[in-house]
Amino acid sequence: MSVCEILSVGTEILLGDILNTNSKYLSTELAKLGISVLRHTTVGDNHERLSAALKTALGRSDIVIATGGLGPTADDITRDVCCEVMGFELTFDKKIADGIKGYFASKGYEMPESNLRQAYVPVGGTVFENNHGTAPGLGLKKDGKCVVILPGPPYEMAPMYQESVIPYLAEYAEGAIVSHTVRTMGIGESAMAEMCADLLENENPTVAPYAKKGEALLRVTAKAESEAEAEKLCAPIIEEIKSRLGGYVYGIDSESIEQRVVELLKESGLKIATAESCTAGYIPKRITDIAGASNIFEFGAVTYSNKMKINILGVNPVTIEKYGVYSEETAREMAAGIRRLSGADIGISVTGIAGPDGDGEKPAGLCFVALDAKDRQICEKIETGKSDREYNRYVTASRALNLARVYTEEKIR
Ligand code: ATP
Ligand code: MG
Repeated sequence: MSVCEILSVGTEILLGDILNTNSKYLSTELAKLGISVLRHTTVGDNHERLSAALKTALGRSDIVIATGGLGPTADDITRDVCCEVMGFELTFDKKIADGIKGYFASKGYEMPESNLRQAYVPVGGTVFENNHGTAPGLGLKKDGKCVVILPGPPYEMAPMYQESVIPYLAEYAEGAIVSHTVRTMGIGESAMAEMCADLLENENPTVAPYAKKGEALLRVTAKAESEAEAEKLCAPIIEEIKSRLGGYVYGIDSESIEQRVVELLKESGLKIATAESCTAGYIPKRITDIAGASNIFEFGAVTYSNKMKINILGVNPVTIEKYGVYSEETAREMAAGIRRLSGADIGISVTGIAGPDGDGEKPAGLCFVALDAKDRQICEKIETGKSDREYNRYVTASRALNLARVYTEEKIR
């Protein structure tokens, strides 16, 4: 059986300012994997003492999980110390840096330069995405030893553990661990969690909700003697989730919304065309990222100005004047227009405000997506509540693609 220690980092824990709930959480969760937790240690934000504590822990255990001190300030030293002790070099990761910048932009805050410290990652290590904050978690494996570094705030630490650390520790778990992700679109994380509230209490498999780039996901993780048995435990729970969440579920595991849409369109023999304003080509880009898109994608128009919405798509100027360009009515006319123009079976459209600034009373992240087909028209209003331009464009494109998914799934059924 693998042996683990938990290393809590933070002077505020030693001073009694905060209660160490992370250790409790991790002990409970690790037990579910059959990993024995033999010690809890707490050290302050002190380089020497943290280094010594980690070396001692590694001397007697296979795994050390450290939490706290991953932040941007000078007293956040866990990343540096762990990498130093494990012999990993740190390197700057531009993608992570851009993610951190985007996170600040989405909150409308100026980013302190020191935040970029969080963009340094160990060469040869594993980076765990942080969907609830900025500091990514890290995994270091070397010479049979494993160090996992997680952020201090419990609402960042716990989802990261469920999403990334469980699979990372699979080789140390007793028996086999199997994990699947149910992906949904069009429902918020909390509404989704509510619909599955009793399942979240489940012991094996465990069911954990999390949110990522406008999607709500549920991770189902089972532990059993063998992989086949673990799969068997997961299957009925996944079926139960699918039946509860119905049409919100668009896929299991890594399939993306654009993959699903292309697959469905191929199966149904329907063709699609797009008319976009604020996403400006994002939807065709994502559709054509998928091989074989030429069979299903007809035409994409970027009608950024009102004039082009009117001249190319045939949107009624009165509609724009009366309801505004960011409105359900305009989105519907854009979708109908592109379908007419292209002769495709499905027209989808986007109009809205990518941000970072809003437009008068209308906030950034307010977008409308519409679908027009021979027998149906659908329109959805999206309010991301964020000013992050990239995020808003991505999420809106996803939601427009989702309309095509919903329509085509119904057609095939
Ligand atoms: P940040 O980026 O917020 O600074 P961090 O990873 O550097 O995150 P810390 O600075 O150590 O983490 O702690 C931030 C906050 O997280 C603490 O003020 C506390 O509220 C919470 N926290 C940290 N460690 C624990 C713990 N072991 N148990 C419960 N809460 C904790
Ligand atoms: Mg900190």
